[in-house]
Amino acid sequence: VINLLDLSLDKIFQSLWLFNQPQARLYYLNLLGAFCFIAFIYFFKKSERESIKSFFSISYWLHASSRTDLFLFIFNGFFKLILIAPFLIGSYQVATFVMKSLYVIFGFSEPILLSEGLLLTIFTIMAFVINDFFRFFLHFLMHKISFLWRFHEIHHSAVVLTPLSLHRAHPVEVALASVRNVLSAGLSAGLFMFLFQKQVGGLDILGVNLIGFLFNFLGSNLRHSPIWIGYGPLEYLFISPAQHQIHHAKDKKYYDTNLGVALSIWDQLFGTFMTSKGERVKEFGVGSYQKQNLLFQLTNPFRR
Ligand SMILES: [Zn+2]
Ligand SMILES: [Zn+2]
Repeated sequence: VINLLDLSLDKIFQSLWLFNQPQARLYYLNLLGAFCFIAFIYFFKKSERESIKSFFSISYWLHASSRTDLFLFIFNGFFKLILIAPFLIGSYQVATFVMKSLYVIFGFSEPILLSEGLLLTIFTIMAFVINDFFRFFLHFLMHKISFLWRFHEIHHSAVVLTPLSLHRAHPVEVALASVRNVLSAGLSAGLFMFLFQKQVGGLDILGVNLIGFLFNFLGSNLRHSPIWIGYGPLEYLFISPAQHQIHHAKDKKYYDTNLGVALSIWDQLFGTFMTSKGERVKEFGVGSYQKQNLLFQLTNPFRR
């Protein structure tokens, strides 16, 4: 059991400093990956040169919208810290609950025996798919339920997109995301333990997910950027940066589309899918909300 009072300065610093945490999108290698990707685009896609230049301009990063991103990134960093401890305890309990429930429903059977490497591969894929679905589904609910939209609106009030915009979220959404992580990690671990009768330690749950890392390395940071990168036919499997930019578009015709994170299959199943083919979004942010100050945006969901 983690002592809540034992939150040292070290941990506070860790929760803010994501640049050396391999599972974070802002991990320095992922930023390096994004940089290489941009260089590649710059040379091979002349039509994107203008957006790349604007992305690297000082005024872009000093824009009021980017400053709000930075503020919320720091603010939520502190906020998340209080939620890390329950996460570690919670996912273990969910895993045990899932495993026991499955035993009650399906009874005890001989475990499926596989090599360690194969088991790790299966767990990684399973955890990735389940987590990706949970992320899609919470996002879907945040768009479709008006009470939840009030909180999510803050993410959509960004008029300028930078990798930090990922952290532009209302603390209530951050809290919901933590609960979501507990549930998805617990479900994957519980299911895995039931099928293979192998323990999954807390470190495996929290550890580097190779698929997640590859996804982050291959341009997830460019989803929140003005650089238009489509994946062509691959968009039927993976969400491209351009598809997430469609999600952020100011134009109403794009609202509530592409709610997924890595896989686009959920959007296709739920009817919210849109490819980037033939589209080009240049203006971001929802209508009136972006004009309000941050304090208003943070408190407004509770006032209505
Ligand atoms: Zn959204
Ligand atoms: Zn976004």
